[in-house]
Amino acid sequence: MTNSISTRLVVLGSGPAGYTAAIYAARAGLSPVVIQGIQPGGQLTTTTDVENYPGFRDVIQGPWLMEEMQAQAEHVGTKIVWDHITSVDLSRRPFRLTGDGGAQYFADSLVIATGAQAKWLNLPSEEHMKGRGASACATCDGFFYRGKKVAVIGGGNTAVEEALYLTNHSHDVTLIHRRDSLRAEKILQDRLFAHPNIKIIWDSEVAEFVAGGTPEALVGLDVRNVKSGSISRIDVDGAFVAIGHKPATELFRGHLDLDEDNYIRVEPGTTHTSVPGVFASGDVMDKIYRQAVTAAGTGCMAALDAEKFLAEADFEAIPQAAMQHA
Ligand code: FAD
Ligand code: NAP
Repeated sequence: MTNSISTRLVVLGSGPAGYTAAIYAARAGLSPVVIQGIQPGGQLTTTTDVENYPGFRDVIQGPWLMEEMQAQAEHVGTKIVWDHITSVDLSRRPFRLTGDGGAQYFADSLVIATGAQAKWLNLPSEEHMKGRGASACATCDGFFYRGKKVAVIGGGNTAVEEALYLTNHSHDVTLIHRRDSLRAEKILQDRLFAHPNIKIIWDSEVAEFVAGGTPEALVGLDVRNVKSGSISRIDVDGAFVAIGHKPATELFRGHLDLDEDNYIRVEPGTTHTSVPGVFASGDVMDKIYRQAVTAAGTGCMAALDAEKFLAEADFEAIPQAAMQHA
């Protein structure tokens, strides 16, 4: 028999946005169901030290923080389900979500918190050096390169902002871009070009991340000039890949309004999406800040928006007696 769960609120995703939404919704008596997805705990489970989440004087670990958030959500009455949603029907009530193994989830309201994943260059040597010098988040990891040499790969706003940010820690920042002009806004370009501690390598791409030392760490990048094909090595301790993010919104294409970069569009200042009763929070709707604390903040907003929506709803809600937990 296929499992089925009916609930007033499904929270899709188990990163900081999803768990925060669940904590607020559970405390409002909505008995939310969190569907964790294939990355329980979200992006922070892929990192080690987290030093900018408020409330902790000492360095904390990303996976530990997410376990604590999950424990808090469960403690106040959230049901956690491990499943990956493969299709949604938001065209009628209750909303219906279908899991990987065929389980059905029926909900009067939905908080989407499916996050966004940084794009990588997809080089085997890059994969090998993740956490050992290769990063996709300067705000998160820049601090670890104080006084060291770093490179940023990309030519958009994120790459330029990350290069500028890294000058707070490093006196030797190199931006590597595959063309001879940047995509970033002019004002950011002007700041970049004026900065004495930033060099730019134009028309170039990274051919290899070079490892060395014991314990093994990044020591350089082999950089290929795309016009001449020649390869030269630059010495760096950290390399920040900033070639864009991909929001996890494939599931919602054709069901919700997405913006030109495929982020879920919300009414400014709220988490309301184009479908009443569906709310979006965290990195899936935020292409600018993309931090754990901002994801948690919009998760809180989404739960409050959902609570208000359900209190005012004029459709027939899923009756308490019909609620089943598989
Ligand atoms: P995510 O954390 O991306 O979680 C998304 C969730 O959605 C996951 O649980 C996933 O399984 C689930 N999901 C996706 N699709 C489906 C589906 N179809 N069905 C079911 N579930 C689904 N931020 C900081 O503030 N400080 C840091 O130090 C920091 N370090 C970082 C280090 C790294 C290496 C990375 C990658 C990011 C870092 N960040 C940091 C950024 C931070 O992790 C993100 O901003 C934050 O996790 C976003 O939270 P979120 O809840 O929106 O989404
Ligand atoms: P982006 O605008 O898509 O830029 C990605 C950059 O990476 C481009 O320069 C691109 O090169 C390069 N790139 C892509 N794939 C590559 C690859 N495989 N190898 C090498 N280089 C590659 O991404 P973003 O900078 O993350 O910005 C995303 C969105 O968020 C944009 O809308 C941006 O405006 C917005 N944003 C805004 C702010 C702000 O307002 N302050 C800050 C950050 C982001 P090409 O140029 O050759 O395509």
